[in-house]
Amino acid sequence: MTGHLIRIGGRYVTYFASGEALLPQDVEVVGFDFSEDAELRSHPRLRRVLTTVVRPEPKFYGVLHWSDGSDLVALDEKVKSGEAEDGDFAGALLAEPRTVVCGECQAQVRVLVVDTGQALFASDLASRLRNHELKHSCPACGARLGLPVVEFIGG
Ligand SMILES: [Zn+2]
Repeated sequence: MTGHLIRIGGRYVTYFASGEALLPQDVEVVGFDFSEDAELRSHPRLRRVLTTVVRPEPKFYGVLHWSDGSDLVALDEKVKSGEAEDGDFAGALLAEPRTVVCGECQAQVRVLVVDTGQALFASDLASRLRNHELKHSCPACGARLGLPVVEFIGG
């Protein structure tokens, strides 16, 4: 496994710094898509992570997303040198790629959406969601999306 195994809020997460590639065996990760991963690899507002639920396998593909202008290049350096702390992730939300269908125009929209069922950041998830800049409208028709979307992808 590539990436950097770090602890956030007591949970292990595999963190990929900007430009770092997953290995071919990582394609077995749930939710991994090669072209989407290429699109997200050097994104200014997010970093790709692999998470687990209870067991070490399977691993789930997701992103940590910031909307507060956090310097993720500096964070990459802290992670690589083992100095990253929970406070460095105070503005982050865990999101995953998913297709949502607009209830108004039925457009299928590929998004990164916050997984509110994940244990990561569960203790203060409500305030994290309040403080995060979310995408509220369908890009096709402008109707309200009922999910906590942080980015549109594949556009
Ligand atoms: Zn729509």
